[in-house]
Amino acid sequence: MERLVDYLAPRGPLDWVLKTALFIAAINGLNLTVEFAMNGALSMSLLAHVQTTSMVAFPFTLFALSIIRHQHRLQGQLKHLATTDMLTGLPNRRELLRRLGEERRSFGAFILLDIDHFKRINDRHGHAVGDTCLVRCAAHLSGSVGPGDVVARYGGEEFAVLARTRDPAALEALTTRLCEPFTCTVAVEGLTVPMTLSAGVVRADADLGYAELLRDADAALYHAKDTGRNRAVFAPGRPAA
Ligand code: GH3
Ligand code: MG
Ligand code: MG
Repeated sequence: MERLVDYLAPRGPLDWVLKTALFIAAINGLNLTVEFAMNGALSMSLLAHVQTTSMVAFPFTLFALSIIRHQHRLQGQLKHLATTDMLTGLPNRRELLRRLGEERRSFGAFILLDIDHFKRINDRHGHAVGDTCLVRCAAHLSGSVGPGDVVARYGGEEFAVLARTRDPAALEALTTRLCEPFTCTVAVEGLTVPMTLSAGVVRADADLGYAELLRDADAALYHAKDTGRNRAVFAPGRPAA
C-alpha cells in the first residue's frame, strides 16, 4: 500500500493533470466494460458515454487524488519521525541499525563515539547548554566524514559512523578527524565549552556479523575510556583464516 500511495501521489501541476486524466480514463474503461458485459451494447453513443462518465468521475478523481497526496505526506512525516533524531537532525539508532543490516557490505568500518565527561557539561552549565553541545558535536562529526558515510545519533551522548572506506590509512585519518577536540560556543551564555570524544573502531570484515560488530565497537570504546579518553581504539583484527 505504501508503494502504491508513493506511485499514485501527484507531485506537481503536470502530474496532477496526467494522473487525473489516467484515473478518468481508467474509470471510463471500467464503465464501458461493465456496460458491454451486462447489456452486450452501449445504451448511448461512445462520445456521450465518455462525456457523462468523465463529468461524474472528475470530482471524485480530484477527491481521491487529494486523499492520496495527503496520505503520501503523512507517510513522509511518519518516516522522518521514525528515522530522525529530533535534537540533532541525524539519523537515529533505528535508522542506523536498519542501514547497517541492509547495506552492511557497502561499509568498511563501524565507529562508535562517546562524548567524554558529558555529564559534567550538563551539571556545570545545565541541560540546555548540553543540548547545544550535542548539536555542535553532530555538526563536528558530519563535517569530518566523507561522502556516503553515515553519521547517526546512537543514543544519549553517543554517536556512530558507518564509514565506506576499506583503506586502513584512510580509516585512520577519518578516525583522527572525528576525535579531534572541538569547542561548543553558546553565544547567549557567553560560553565556550571544550569537548573531546572517545571512539571504538571496528573494520567490517565480510564474515563479521551485525551483533559482533556492535559488540566489538562497544568493547573498543570502553577500552578507549579506560585508557584515558580523547582517543580512538581499534578493535583487534580477526586472525586470517
Ligand atoms: P564518559 O566520559 O565516561 O562517557 O562520561 P559521561 O559523563 O559522558 O557519561 P555518563 O554516562 O556518566 O553521562 C552521560 C550523560 O549524558 C548523562 C545524561 O544526562 C546526558 N544526556 C543523555 N542524553 C542527553 C540529551 O539529549 N541532552 C542532554 N543535555 N544530556 C543528555
Ligand atoms: Mg555514554
Ligand atoms: Mg560520555
